[in-house]
Amino acid sequence: MTREHIDIAIIGGGPAGLAAALYAARGRAKTVVFERGLPGGQIVTTDWVENYPGFPKGISGSDLGELMTAQAEEHGAIIRTFSPVEGVRTEGGKFVLTSEGEEFEAHSVILATGAIPRKLGIPGEAEFTGRGVSWCATCDGALFKDKTVAVIGGGDAAVEEAMFLTKFATRVHLIHRRDELRATKCIQERCFANDKIEMELSRVPAQIVGEGGKVAAIRLESTIGEPDKLLPLDGVFIFVGVHPVNELAKELCELSDSGYISIDHDGRTSVPGLFAAGDVTQSELKQVITAAAKGASAAFEALRYVDAANVCTI
Ligand code: NAP
Repeated sequence: MTREHIDIAIIGGGPAGLAAALYAARGRAKTVVFERGLPGGQIVTTDWVENYPGFPKGISGSDLGELMTAQAEEHGAIIRTFSPVEGVRTEGGKFVLTSEGEEFEAHSVILATGAIPRKLGIPGEAEFTGRGVSWCATCDGALFKDKTVAVIGGGDAAVEEAMFLTKFATRVHLIHRRDELRATKCIQERCFANDKIEMELSRVPAQIVGEGGKVAAIRLESTIGEPDKLLPLDGVFIFVGVHPVNELAKELCELSDSGYISIDHDGRTSVPGLFAAGDVTQSELKQVITAAAKGASAAFEALRYVDAANVCTI
């Protein structure tokens, strides 16, 4: 099988992968981003991003994703959409990627595979997914016009998405397992001021109850010894954090105990020529700005690695 040669292959087209692509392409490396769906990553399912510099009033997540993609392409990066990478192996000091029956040979690889939402693992969650249970308010919120929904979680995602859902739903129950939220303070303040949001603190969901094939209620247990509560509702949105998409990485390089790729300050993994950036890596702050910055660092180091071997093909 003939293999296309790539200087820097980037796996994942979220903010980390797209920023890496911008920097790698500007460094005149043949740069290909393999994205299993459409580019943009998790921000595409975010209604509004108001903490990415340069947009005083904020910008929709999907618009930001499109702009990042256009900028990387403008500078010469090739973005392969709907191109999942099924395997990466090392061979003769290079990396061989397989994607949809094709093989590609890359001098350096940047893993930017991101993270996906965590599940609760409670009865009813799997059964009613798509029938009232959702992980994406931007995608499904409009289906709950004039209805009652619950949002599970107390982090930035849960609180922001709860506020977004008040555009449609008449009531949003925000269910959090502790008595204080984890979300950034300014986000919390807006949430507390929103009279469509009702807080259910010190509560964990125990069961999503269905009727007629769709969500009808949620049963909540107390974390402080109060009796269970059954809330009648139409939808449940789950935002209880994320876990890293590490299937490719775990065959290749060192991971942390919690499954994130271990990198040094500049994005180097335990394998020479293999770099990583964004939400798949071990880092405290998981934001668009940090993902983009780490993508830039990883690309800078990948360029140095490729240049040192003097193999750039463009
Ligand atoms: P997160 O910050 O990890 O918050 C997850 C929330 O879910 C926490 O409140 C946690 O409770 C709760 N939780 C976890 N497991 C649970 C379970 N089994 N049952 C009930 N509740 C559970 O996750 P996130 O909100 O998805 O955000 C992920 C990252 O993206 C964060 O770094 C966040 O800052 C970032 N993000 C940023 C923005 C923004 O800046 N605008 C927007 C979205 C996401 P505890 O608090 O008790 O642990």
